[in-house]
Amino acid sequence: MVAWIGVDDTDSLQGMCTTFLAAEIVRELTTDYDLVGYPRLVRLNPNVPWKTRGNGAICVRFGHGAGRRTLIGELEGRPIWSHAWARGDDDVWRLRARVSTLVESRSEFQEPTTNPGFCILSGQPAASLYWNAVRRIVSKEEALAAVRSPGVLREYKNGRGIIGALAAAAWRPRDRTYEVLAYRGESRWGTPRVLDPDSVKNMDRSFASTFNNYDYECDRIVIAPHSPCPILFGIRGDDPGVLPAALQTIKGESPAGWIVFETNQGTDDHVIPAPTLEPRTTVQVDTQVLGLPRTIRGGHVVLEMNGLEAVAYEPSKGFRNIVRALRPGDRVRVVGSIRAQPKTLNIEKLQVLSLVEESRKLANPLCLRCQKRAKSMGTRAGFRCARCGQRFPHSAAVRELVSRALEPGWYEPPAGSRRHLSQPLSRRLDRSRRRAAA
Ligand code: ATP
Repeated sequence: MVAWIGVDDTDSLQGMCTTFLAAEIVRELTTDYDLVGYPRLVRLNPNVPWKTRGNGAICVRFGHGAGRRTLIGELEGRPIWSHAWARGDDDVWRLRARVSTLVESRSEFQEPTTNPGFCILSGQPAASLYWNAVRRIVSKEEALAAVRSPGVLREYKNGRGIIGALAAAAWRPRDRTYEVLAYRGESRWGTPRVLDPDSVKNMDRSFASTFNNYDYECDRIVIAPHSPCPILFGIRGDDPGVLPAALQTIKGESPAGWIVFETNQGTDDHVIPAPTLEPRTTVQVDTQVLGLPRTIRGGHVVLEMNGLEAVAYEPSKGFRNIVRALRPGDRVRVVGSIRAQPKTLNIEKLQVLSLVEESRKLANPLCLRCQKRAKSMGTRAGFRCARCGQRFPHSAAVRELVSRALEPGWYEPPAGSRRHLSQPLSRRLDRSRRRAAA
């Protein structure tokens, strides 16, 4: 039997991190139990208003390990092994005191917005809880109703953390990626991180299965957080086997320990593939561009679509030029989150499906009788020969086609302004190539 431990909402912007608590649980419990599978970092709906940062929850599984053993980390100089599966029976209640002590000693209880919760279950909650929590807003009652097996449920303060804790335990990966997290020694918490940017670029180029490492457009490292939390950096990728080697190539501050997590990052699990306009969801909409894109104060670019405005915000940098290059009549597939007030779609990425022809006027129509160019009668009002009075429609102007600055295909913001859950285009292409080759 496997004990499914889910934890959420232990940290604040001032410090700590739920993934560090995962490392603490692994460090403490691997002295008596075996870790089963990879520890899991499960991102939930990025549009939840009460999240601290990236709406991440964790799930770790323990039992009497069996099957193949994999090295998945190193903590305090001790190798951390994970087993393929577990055998025999165990009592989830026996873990309760040790997990409570860790959660209670490592949670930011003084923060008003920190509301920890954890579960220790002998089986996973219903799969639907994960899908609802990654795509919609879930109530505590709904989360508790998804529990299917006996175990421990523990809530602190308003207990909201139990939603994420149970949703993380409910995750059955349809698609998955991995992230190796490097931890800082406690004496360094809150001090500036020392990482060599060139080594990050080299790692990015040498390990093709990793992604979102360096933002070449803004020339900055993406693997390191900016908060005073205990994480030094995290490298994301599709192949867990190469992540420890990738970690070794990063120059600068030495990590005090590391763990490879299995995650739903970069999977697009949060995207509802239907054009629902429910606020606080992320949707995919196929639509036609209605008006010319406009740049508003703050550098944000607004695109008028059928019944809704879509916005590419300033941090998406050069991606805004793609949006600016769209023209009325173009067909696009837009992925983005629905904001409640004002009701807009915050663009995460887009696919140009088809482009209209764009032309520019070279000259007014020629009046063949007078051999003179007709005069314009105003915007879209057509033309008139000033000499003989003959009228010409607006479409009679002499025009030439101009080449469009865009091609059909997918476009995304630079690595530094992507959402954790958003599937990078490099990964999307790689997966479709692998599918085609299979
Ligand atoms: P970090 O990424 O730094 O670990 P965070 O961004 O995950 O922090 P939390 O402090 O964990 O933020 O807060 C998120 C809170 O929202 C948790 O209490 C979690 O249970 C709850 N939550 C997560 N997803 C949903 C959802 N879909 N509906 C309702 N509540 C949710």
